[in-house]
Amino acid sequence: MGTPFPRALTRSLSRQSVWKRSFSSSRQSHADFTHAIIGGGAVGLAIARQLAGRTGTSTILIERHGAVGTETSSRNSEVIHAGIYYGPSSLKTKLCIRGKHMLYDLCEAKSIPHWRTKKWIIAQDEQQMQHLQDLHTFSKSIDVPTHFLSSREIQDREPDVRAEAGVLESPTTGIIDSHAFMAYLEGAFDEQGGDQVMNTIVTGIERLEGGDEGRGGGYAITTRSKDGAGGQDTITAEVVINSAGLGAIEISNMLMPAQRQRKAYFAKGTYFSYASGHPKPKTLLYPAPVPGLGGLGTHLTLDMAGRARFGPDVEWVDDPTDLTPNPARLKDAVDVIRSYLPSVDVGAIDLDYCGVRPKLGRTTGTYGKDGKGFADFYIKEEDGFPGFVNLLGIESPGLTSSLAIAELVEDMLYGENAKV
Ligand SMILES: Cc1cc2nc3c(=O)[nH]c(=O)nc-3n(C[C@H](O)[C@H](O)[C@H](O)COP(=O)(O)OP(=O)(O)OC[C@H]3O[C@@H](n4cnc5c(N)ncnc54)[C@H](O)[C@@H]3O)c2cc1C
Repeated sequence: MGTPFPRALTRSLSRQSVWKRSFSSSRQSHADFTHAIIGGGAVGLAIARQLAGRTGTSTILIERHGAVGTETSSRNSEVIHAGIYYGPSSLKTKLCIRGKHMLYDLCEAKSIPHWRTKKWIIAQDEQQMQHLQDLHTFSKSIDVPTHFLSSREIQDREPDVRAEAGVLESPTTGIIDSHAFMAYLEGAFDEQGGDQVMNTIVTGIERLEGGDEGRGGGYAITTRSKDGAGGQDTITAEVVINSAGLGAIEISNMLMPAQRQRKAYFAKGTYFSYASGHPKPKTLLYPAPVPGLGGLGTHLTLDMAGRARFGPDVEWVDDPTDLTPNPARLKDAVDVIRSYLPSVDVGAIDLDYCGVRPKLGRTTGTYGKDGKGFADFYIKEEDGFPGFVNLLGIESPGLTSSLAIAELVEDMLYGENAKV
């Protein structure tokens, strides 16, 4: 969504009340908390809720802003993706498909606003049609439904769409009110006794000695308050989840040895608003994928009120806080939009907002023909650092995958093959 997360539920805990509380732990009683989650975006919140559900544990969520969900999780397309773009046996494919089902189920059970809009992927020539064929074949191989539409159906359902070569429909794609979703996660985390501390920036992590049965002695996390007034604090936790989105590589580098340090890359996406009621599609419209692109192409998505917006495009930037829409992007976007929606009122398209994708390199977010340049999610309990789980490069489809990511993280820590 374009606007930062309007925060009703988040309470800004007094730091003292959090720091001084003593918690019981099923594992080691010397740490302040069993779990510390760094980053209160959709993924961090989903993990916090998941881990806070474990009996006899204590979980704290640390967020640098005054509210949860104000970075990438509130600056995206809010699309519940089907899971067809991310190649065979990738984490993105697995987690997106599982996450999609979990998300629809949760939305229905908890009345979180969502809409099964469906999505069209549109080809204008034979080469693009071949991409759609490949996507269709792949979708079948992973049991995600897609089908081609006849010209009659295209014309009947979306008469303003230009599709010279064909349309592949994804019936399981939809949209979600990401703010309502995060408010639900935050409330559920609170209800389970989770603690959160806002306006608190993690500035250092150190591994502690000790522990038993191969499990480490936990970690000391150093923080400072955002306004700089409170000085530094340190808490300890047995398990640390680095779910810091655009800041995740910086956090990882605080702990990893020199040879495992990474450079963070950022791909900004600009959105464009549409201030006209015509044309008014009811389906999400995507151009055929462009091989090598960091995103999915300037597409048309809808918000919960049925308003159209276009974007995001892809622009590599050095600064993850660079959220100013760039007017130079407008012309290229209009060219793409007109290719599939020729009657669009160009005068009604305007710059809107931006989101930034956390990237592991100058990689593509989707899997091309041979997977060249594709980067998967990096979700790992780091070797030699028991209980430290890194979540890096959690770009799209991170929102769709969030509940499945939370399940995976719990399994890494406590499942049959858990290291700790
Ligand atoms: C343009 C764009 C479009 C997208 N569209 C979709 C889509 O349609 N569907 C989909 O499924 N996904 C989409 N995504 C991806 C999705 O938005 C992300 O994968 C998801 O929001 C990531 O959530 P997160 O919790 O990992 O990160 P974030 O939401 O970025 O949260 C990380 C949090 O960590 C905090 N933090 C960082 N550093 C520190 C620190 N040092 N100390 C304390 N806190 C810290 C930040 O303040 C932030 O709140 C899109 C992404 C972009 C950029």
